[in-house]
Amino acid sequence: MKLKKGDPVVVLSGKDKGKEGTILRVLPKENKVIVEGVNIAKKHQKPTRATMQGGIIDKEMPIHVSNVALWCNKCGATRIGYRFDESGKKIRICRRCGGDV
Ligand SMILES: [Zn+2]
Repeated sequence: MKLKKGDPVVVLSGKDKGKEGTILRVLPKENKVIVEGVNIAKKHQKPTRATMQGGIIDKEMPIHVSNVALWCNKCGATRIGYRFDESGKKIRICRRCGGDV
C-alpha cells in the first residue's frame, strides 16, 4: 500500500472519475481506500438511542487503490516512486517531477 491517510488523490475511473479528495482511511487488506467525498452511498440509518432519529446519511464507500492516483501539486495525477535520504530512510517521491510527496 503506497498511499496513506491524508494523501490528496484523484479518481481515475468509475462514477467519480476526475474527483479529487483526501484519503480518510486505508484498508491494506483489501487494497482499498476511503476518499473524502468519493463513492458516496446513501445509507439508511436506523434510529439509535443516542440520536433518537433515523434517516438517510451519505457515507463514503471504499474504492480500489488502482482507481485512484496520488495528486502532485506540480504535475497533477502521478505515480509514486521512492528515494532514500542520507540516513537511509525511504521517502516517497512523485515519479514525474521527482519532488517529495
Ligand atoms: Zn510532481
